[in-house]
Amino acid sequence: MDEKIGVYVCECGPNIKNALDVEAVVRHAGGLPGVAAAKSHRLLCSDEGKAFLKSEIQAQGLTRLVIAACSPREHEATFRGVSEASGLNPFLMQMANIREHAAWVTGEPAVATAKAKAFVAAAVRRVALHQPLERKFVDSNPDALVVGGGVAGISAVAALAQKGRKAYLVERAPCLGGRVARFEDAFPRAECASCMLEPKLDKVLHQDNIQVLTYSEVEEVLGSFGNYIIKVRRKARSVDLHNCIGCGACYEPCPVQVPNDYDEGMSRRKAIYIPYTGCLPNVPVIDRETCLRFKKDAAPGQRGCDLCQKACPFGAIDYSQQDEVLEIRAGGVVLATGSALFDPKRAPQYGYGKLDNVLTGMEFARLVSQTGPTGGKVLKKDGQPPQAVALIHCVGSRTPEYNPYCSGVCCLASLGFIHMIQKQLPQAEVSAVYSELSLPGRDAQKLCDEVKSHGARFLRARGPAAARVEREGERLAVRYQTEAGRTARGSSPSRTPTRSAASSRSRARKTGSSPRRTPPWSRWPAPARACSSPGAASLPRTYRPRRPKAGQPREASSRRWSPGRNWS
Ligand SMILES: Cc1cc2nc3c(=O)[nH]c(=O)nc-3n(C[C@H](O)[C@H](O)[C@H](O)COP(=O)(O)OP(=O)(O)OC[C@H]3O[C@@H](n4cnc5c(N)ncnc54)[C@H](O)[C@@H]3O)c2cc1C
Ligand code: SF4
Ligand code: SF4
Repeated sequence: MDEKIGVYVCECGPNIKNALDVEAVVRHAGGLPGVAAAKSHRLLCSDEGKAFLKSEIQAQGLTRLVIAACSPREHEATFRGVSEASGLNPFLMQMANIREHAAWVTGEPAVATAKAKAFVAAAVRRVALHQPLERKFVDSNPDALVVGGGVAGISAVAALAQKGRKAYLVERAPCLGGRVARFEDAFPRAECASCMLEPKLDKVLHQDNIQVLTYSEVEEVLGSFGNYIIKVRRKARSVDLHNCIGCGACYEPCPVQVPNDYDEGMSRRKAIYIPYTGCLPNVPVIDRETCLRFKKDAAPGQRGCDLCQKACPFGAIDYSQQDEVLEIRAGGVVLATGSALFDPKRAPQYGYGKLDNVLTGMEFARLVSQTGPTGGKVLKKDGQPPQAVALIHCVGSRTPEYNPYCSGVCCLASLGFIHMIQKQLPQAEVSAVYSELSLPGRDAQKLCDEVKSHGARFLRARGPAAARVEREGERLAVRYQTEAGRTARGSSPSRTPTRSAASSRSRARKTGSSPRRTPPWSRWPAPARACSSPGAASLPRTYRPRRPKAGQPREASSRRWSPGRNWS
């Protein structure tokens, strides 16, 4: 072999020296093929150690270097620097980690020495195969593109822009906010969800360097790290983002009614619609799949409908808009596309899709939202409030058949829902059927204790899929297998009062006072409500489109939408 390999073993003060036989490792290295010099040093990373290495490389005419010392995380850059300064290609150096991987973990000096010898031998063989590399500097684009306009994407784009980078936010829905925008309160702190989003959205709307593309999807990403070319399809919204003021005059005459997916299909929307009141951008979109003007199988009398265009006082409806494919150049792409929900129809024991009043968590979240189908009231399909509610945990989670992992969110969401039910329906019996409780953080435990103290029953089932829902006459019953293998009944829809409600009534009988209708919520922070954000309690139950009066200034009729240069 023509190569002259130098092996230098560091004592690292007492760290390596006291744990293994450094000189035995040096002797072993000296006998390895290609090794021209093998020596030890007290502290190779010190100034004196670096000077020693440099003089060795030059004096011995070394062509490759092995440093047996600490973790490369700590000093690989240091020893590459020494190589380079000594005229050796810095990539012809290999480190053997005999400190963290031998000295600190072995305990037995003889074993540690044997291990260190093996590491050094492997490094010598490896360094002989190294190729000299060259550093190249490639121009990289500082801009970034973020996919997904939920709370994660919004935060990412705001953080990027704050650092002075141009940031693009691509959201496939017609508006920003993701899942959180559909919630009334965010738990565990019962925070008003829209109030939490509002300042983040405000940054996106007004901060420099941000361009938001809603109703858009990434089609293709070409290039590599530092230089991507991203093709984004911006779907035709059919409404001009800058002319529209969000007055809503266009929805009323639209004859189409379809299920509103923002309310999980529990309400209906028009073919021209705003997903929910106060969303951003506060500009409707025409769903061309259902709009009579674009639908291929529309009845002859309905074809060519232009009712929304006639109703818009600002000429904002533009049927001629076409999809556009934009080419964006960015140095990095952040994916913040959120999660997909488990389809409970895959687990037929819960009766979802077959039994009325079996809802998913997301459907319930819309039910308790002021902007949802019932204006925030917990009602059954017949319009009556339920007397008993059961929440089944872990649906689709922790089960090898579906998802083997914990969703990490449904226990907390369930506690939040129980809190809302107890607040709204203090007499209702509430049961949670669970097999494990995943309650991260102090606040989640506090919330759990709180809902228990208000009478919520926590019924432990044998496993995640050990519950089933059945119809019993007009009512639903939840049955579950207890840990002992018995079949028990979870929620009883009878009028049997919960323990706290019963004791409140007997107290009232004794004292002659009327029973307390609302539980004392004072211990749990009340959600902040003094806001004008979407979803705030002040919003009307059903959004009534308001036609601006002639001569009315535009700003007066627009609740909060002001198109900035950030939106396109
Ligand atoms: C029923 C339920 C209740 C919950 N309750 C709480 C709670 O009380 N408190 C709490 O802290 N958390 C709660 N969570 C969790 C919370 O919703 C999530 O942690 C949060 O929404 C995650 O934000 P995100 O931005 O990552 O994703 P999302 O909010 O899901 O946003 C992702 C966005 O990406 C968009 N997108 C997806 N794919 C594409 C694509 N290909 N191109 C462009 N855009 C795309 C989506 O349209 C969406 O707007 C709950 C979750 C559920 C399901
Ligand atoms: S064109 Fe007619 S059907 Fe289409 S959105 Fe407008 S009013 Fe509705
Ligand atoms: S009627 Fe109002 S909401 Fe509808 S497009 Fe025109 S300006 Fe926008």
